[in-house]
Amino acid sequence: MDNNELKTGQGKIVVTQLDDLINWARLSSLWPMGFGLACCAIEMMATNASGYDLDRMGVFPRPSPRQSDVMIVSGTVTFKMADRIRRLYEQMAEPRYVISMGSCSNCGGPYWEHGYHVVKGVDKIIPVDIYIPGCPPRPEALIGGILSLQEKIRTETLFPAKKT
Ligand code: SF4
Repeated sequence: MDNNELKTGQGKIVVTQLDDLINWARLSSLWPMGFGLACCAIEMMATNASGYDLDRMGVFPRPSPRQSDVMIVSGTVTFKMADRIRRLYEQMAEPRYVISMGSCSNCGGPYWEHGYHVVKGVDKIIPVDIYIPGCPPRPEALIGGILSLQEKIRTETLFPAKKT
């Protein structure tokens, strides 16, 4: 609701755009699917633990893709896992988002040159919204990625104006 002037009066009425209101609610309740692929997942789990307290940002891991709107791909994407990742992504409700966490997921990481079994970037399978560099990225980096995703959602338009 940053770009809009809020009007409040004695009647306690707030005027804003529907897009801004819905986006504010969505970015404040991102539910990532709880799964990890390799060592980056350890950092993701640490980020979800009490020391970093992601709940305060509305981030709450869910056990099912049908309850999730964010996929955090944390680890090495092998060709064997590629089909499963795509299937899980397609089972998520729309609008849905993907955070690629770590070098392996971004581009193959240490397996980039000789890893015959590794997909050289999860964006070859599914669309990626946010890339987080590192091997592994620290929890602070993952939190930074989540904040970037929130900023992206803040400016989205769910109800485009009809052309006359
Ligand atoms: S980027 Fe590094 S830490 Fe992350 S899964 Fe790959 S090898 Fe492991």
